[in-house]
Amino acid sequence: MIKLTNVSKTYGKSQVKAVDNLSLEIKDGEIFGFLGPNGAGKSTTIKMITGILSPNEGVIEVDGINLADNPTLAKSYIGFVPDNHETYETLKGMEYLNFIGVMYGVEANLLKQRITEYAEMFQLTDALPNMIASYSHGMKQKLMVIAALIHEPKVWILDEPLTGLDPQSAYQLKQLMRKHADNGNTVFFSSHVIDVVEKVCDRIGIINHGKLVAVDTLDNIRADESVSLESLFLTITADGTPVGE
Ligand code: ADP
Ligand code: MG
Repeated sequence: MIKLTNVSKTYGKSQVKAVDNLSLEIKDGEIFGFLGPNGAGKSTTIKMITGILSPNEGVIEVDGINLADNPTLAKSYIGFVPDNHETYETLKGMEYLNFIGVMYGVEANLLKQRITEYAEMFQLTDALPNMIASYSHGMKQKLMVIAALIHEPKVWILDEPLTGLDPQSAYQLKQLMRKHADNGNTVFFSSHVIDVVEKVCDRIGIINHGKLVAVDTLDNIRADESVSLESLFLTITADGTPVGE
């Protein structure tokens, strides 16, 4: 569903590769957790998959479509929750969701129904008539989640989605991720928090200094009792220094 082949990215004149020769394949029906310390290259990878940044080298495919050849089609398969929500502050929540829904061509009745359903689920109904500027971090996060699901994308990509969510919303979001994957879709999300990844993922990739250093199923990691995910993560990222710091 998502395939990266030898993907690298260097920012501007930097000598350091933010993402270094990364190859990875994510299947249908899978929740993939992308784990790594701050500065490891998670957001850079995600921005390339979502077409916000272009790689310097390598190929990215979404459902068999090469992102470089057919960006509009490839992006139409994706729902994306970014790690910052500093956009569209002057729209009302409802306006924003309608705008996104119309942009993705969701039929009007269906759009209304989905907005109502998701807003109830995330207890955002009362806030939808208000300006986004008045929302808390958690409320903006929930709005972004709803917006990313409104066109029922085959691929759902979330950058540090649980950061700043209240426990109820975090629970709802994890349930939604599971449901989305169980319906045959793909969920790819990043985190620097081991516990979060351990609880919801089918497969995990660990990135450090731009390099993918481990990929395995959670079952395999669990099966080896001598290695917990935490110790694996700490060993792999042992120098402890975030890239660029
Ligand atoms: P993560 O999301 O894992 O914390 P990022 O992908 O944001 O990591 O960053 C990876 C590396 O790229 C870091 O060294 C970071 O400093 C650098 N970087 C990220 N964004 C930019 C940018 N816009 N310009 C220059 N360097 C950047
Ligand atoms: Mg990041």
